[in-house]
Amino acid sequence: MKNICVVGTGYVGLVSGAGLADFGNNVICVDIVKEKIEMLNNGGMPIYEPGLKELVDSNVKAGRLKFSTDIDESISKSEVIFSAVGTPPGEGGEADLRAVWAVAKRFAKNLNSYKVFVNKSTVPVGTGKKTYKLIEKEKKNDIDFDVVSNPEFLREGSAVKDFLIPDRIVVGTTSEKSVEIMKNVYKSLYIRNNPFVLTNVESSELVKYASNAFLATKITFINEVANLCDAVGADVHVIANAMGMDGRISSKFLHPGPGYGGSCFPKDTMAYTKIFKEQGIRSEIVESVIKVNEKQKELVVEKLKMFIPDLKGKIIAILGLSFKSNTDDTRESPSKVVIKKLQNEGATVKVFDPIAMKDFKIDFPDLNYQENIYDTIEGADGLILMTEWNQFRNLDIEKIRNLMKTPIFIDTRNIYDPSEIRGYGFKFANSGRSKI
Ligand code: NAD
Repeated sequence: MKNICVVGTGYVGLVSGAGLADFGNNVICVDIVKEKIEMLNNGGMPIYEPGLKELVDSNVKAGRLKFSTDIDESISKSEVIFSAVGTPPGEGGEADLRAVWAVAKRFAKNLNSYKVFVNKSTVPVGTGKKTYKLIEKEKKNDIDFDVVSNPEFLREGSAVKDFLIPDRIVVGTTSEKSVEIMKNVYKSLYIRNNPFVLTNVESSELVKYASNAFLATKITFINEVANLCDAVGADVHVIANAMGMDGRISSKFLHPGPGYGGSCFPKDTMAYTKIFKEQGIRSEIVESVIKVNEKQKELVVEKLKMFIPDLKGKIIAILGLSFKSNTDDTRESPSKVVIKKLQNEGATVKVFDPIAMKDFKIDFPDLNYQENIYDTIEGADGLILMTEWNQFRNLDIEKIRNLMKTPIFIDTRNIYDPSEIRGYGFKFANSGRSKI
């Protein structure tokens, strides 16, 4: 059992803090956003993540999980400090590390006994070394510390399960002392033989970027296959299924759609290509992936335009605003690109999402937000399904056809059977399941 402070109580920090408390540690989660901490201290939940409220509540009740805005006190009372702050893209696409440096400085200021700085944020290779140097320069007392890399692989929407039952835990450090501390922090996983990858800081930092760049490439690859299927009349589901039966390929991440989005893949692929450039080399594969993915988002509107060439004055209904189901996160959501393009073409956009409308309103305050699916669809000239929420999986198609002005349906997530929907009189397109 360790006394842990998690700095940054966002998607990763809150799930990690609650998970580490569930492993038996004493955890205090801190953040600079006062409202977030107040909400958590009042039993509220700042993000939507299945199972998270239950995990937080049970650990708060057991006295192992606390929330605070007092970063100095929380660090000074802890032995292990996890930094889980955001690392958004900077102006040139590189990771913006200002929040990480801010945490490192607070760590240095409050270094009153041996402590471990654990970087959980996704950071470029070399950040661990720079963090060490910064703390060494800023520290007030002649006290030892270690800097460890421990990247996080959780997925929004299944973050709790991913954290509690991870595929692997990667720990980057060359200090034996900090290895033992990290084993203790994750003891309940370690003793159950969850795979631990112990390596140096640089390798650990790069595992995360290489993993995300590879997954983004896999999605983009199947999207490209889907686009070919649209042209030749093949079914991408059959192809992905048969490809996935090959153990070398695996069936995961072979689901075509409107392009990847979210808080990780877009920024991490960009940062990955930057890391290459800084070394005087290029990742031509991932540079292409980024370009192809941008086109994939725009392709959604191109498909609609095959049925409605002039979108001026047309009403288009959008179902789904989050970048995937089971999350309220709309960062880099393909819906943003699609909606902007529709607006530029002169269309009026009506939207609905079961959870993510609040988050979406930050960037799109003036959209026509609706309270439910069928109000959104009423009077529409076209419908685009953007997110695979469960409640969009079993729509009353007959009712939709009767509510719409013209029955035109783009199912970017391949939820519906093309022949069934066309059987209702719809003009229909999806991502690679039938010839358009
Ligand atoms: P987030 O924006 O949801 O959370 C970051 C939090 O840090 C915010 O609450 C913010 O207020 C807080 N913060 C910023 N500066 C701070 C400071 N100086 N002191 C205290 N708190 C501060 O971000 P996130 O999605 O949780 O991502 C965090 C990191 O984890 C990123 O590097 C991201 O790439 C990585 N990551 C994210 C995911 C994911 O699915 N979201 C998965 C794996 C890894």
